[in-house]
Amino acid sequence: MDSRLPDRIDSKTSDTLRILTDLVGMQTAVPPGDNYEEIVDYLMPKFADLGFEVEKVCIPEEIFKQKMKNPELHGKRANLHAYLDVGADRTLVIYTHLDVVPVGDGWTFPPYEGTIADGRFYARGSADSKAAIAALLTVLSLSKELGITPAYNLNIALTTDEEIGPYSGLCYFADIGLLSGDYFLCMDGEGDSVIIGTNGILTWRVDVFGRTYHSGSSFLGVNALEKSVALMNGLLALKSKVEDRRSEMPSSLVIAEKTGFLNVKPVLNITMIECGVKENVVPGRCTIRGDRRVMPEETFDDAIDEIERALASAADADTRYDFTYEIGYPPMCTDASHSWIGQVLAVANEVSDRKIDIAGAQGSLDVAYAIGITEQPVCCHGVGRVLESRAHAEDENVRLEDLVRYTKFLGLLLTE
Ligand SMILES: [Zn+2]
Repeated sequence: MDSRLPDRIDSKTSDTLRILTDLVGMQTAVPPGDNYEEIVDYLMPKFADLGFEVEKVCIPEEIFKQKMKNPELHGKRANLHAYLDVGADRTLVIYTHLDVVPVGDGWTFPPYEGTIADGRFYARGSADSKAAIAALLTVLSLSKELGITPAYNLNIALTTDEEIGPYSGLCYFADIGLLSGDYFLCMDGEGDSVIIGTNGILTWRVDVFGRTYHSGSSFLGVNALEKSVALMNGLLALKSKVEDRRSEMPSSLVIAEKTGFLNVKPVLNITMIECGVKENVVPGRCTIRGDRRVMPEETFDDAIDEIERALASAADADTRYDFTYEIGYPPMCTDASHSWIGQVLAVANEVSDRKIDIAGAQGSLDVAYAIGITEQPVCCHGVGRVLESRAHAEDENVRLEDLVRYTKFLGLLLTE
């Protein structure tokens, strides 16, 4: 690689911070996600100035309505597609998302301003995942300034609605064929590891039916809440069986150190219950909901089957219930021995003073949907740190040194 590039990155930190401050100032929280055009309009000329063909891609309203049945969402579903053809024989897809989760309470710093304190940059969306975009723009403009041609044609997808799903801009890009390329780099997520796989997700719901009655004569009704206790116990028994399993994918080092889990595991959760109107009314209906994270070695069909059997054996003869589910992002896993993974890992370690390893993630990503269609080797490596960056929480931040490290990571990766 041209040795001038990494040496110059430190001197460009103020440029990166200026862009990042602009990006976090644009309020792209979802729900409602009603401000996506502002950030796409801001980024388009920046990529165009760097020689990219740029396009604002909005999900057509009828597709959006059909795929995202969420009344909290409004505004144009705008996304950015930018393509740079340098005549290379390989094309790299680079992706992250432009939306953020809502601010929430408890912030020490103004969430949309971008404050530098204690060697960190604080703002909603800093770690997840606008810092990566600022780093990418810095690297691209520096290589242009130095006359260094990227080693790949660059197919860049900066999309929206990742934080809400289930049909994000990236899913739409995959469906309309905008993600062609040989390798896929997802800049979303943390920089503690190189993530090669994720769990998939399905959400489930059980409606338990009883018969409402005056509680004084509750024996004449059927108490849906009391009936659902047996079902929940059946699910909890299944939960311990499911969560004893382990994926081949290792956990990230920081998760392994904190929890003792050396490998990614599947998860079954009961997370919501809705029931009852008053203490003295026998409830006629109880709804329990939850999710199931499916590791790459499992299938959605088996996971559903298992839940159905657990419910059936836990329910007594006169319990009436309905089990329904919705399948979300699938699990994904790239072969750890693929050369693309090796290269990302080598570069990540070259610029880092701590050991970066391959890992799987417990959560689920829209990238998995895209890769299910494009079948590229994929890995995720971002700017922040799992235990420090407070993504989705108050005082979200990135270390300034991590911002520089990540810019160097991209610089090496794109030009080598
Ligand atoms: Zn993210």
